[in-house]
Amino acid sequence: MELEKKPLYDCLKCPAYCCSYDRIIVNGHDIRRLAKHFSITAEQAIDRFTKLVENERVLRHQKDEIYGSICMFIDKETRRCSVYKARPAVCHEYPDRPHCGYYDFLTWERRQQDDKEFIPLKKG
Ligand code: SF4
Ligand code: SF4
Repeated sequence: MELEKKPLYDCLKCPAYCCSYDRIIVNGHDIRRLAKHFSITAEQAIDRFTKLVENERVLRHQKDEIYGSICMFIDKETRRCSVYKARPAVCHEYPDRPHCGYYDFLTWERRQQDDKEFIPLKKG
């Protein structure tokens, strides 16, 4: 039996970098879960929360001071997902391995800056 590996990242110490990806893909199950969460129809959920990008249905974004743009469901005060229990499968699965590359980068930068709270801003 394979032992489950303990995560080597701590999302509570990260400003939700993964939620700034442009393409958080949603499938039919994700849409229905979000619709149920907000007590609306699947059609309304598609309309309010998603957009089509090159034939892929993805979550809409909002402006963000740290990353330029981030998923519409991030609470920008807490940097936490506001639909955590109803979040799409891809969010649930990420990063699907013990390491998170961004968290490794973040902790490396924090050590360099000798600042446990340091947040590197996205350039450009
Ligand atoms: S980027 Fe990594 S550490 Fe940050 S919230 Fe996402 S999974 Fe967690
Ligand atoms: S639904 Fe939640 S976990 Fe997924 S990208 Fe948006 S804010 Fe992040």
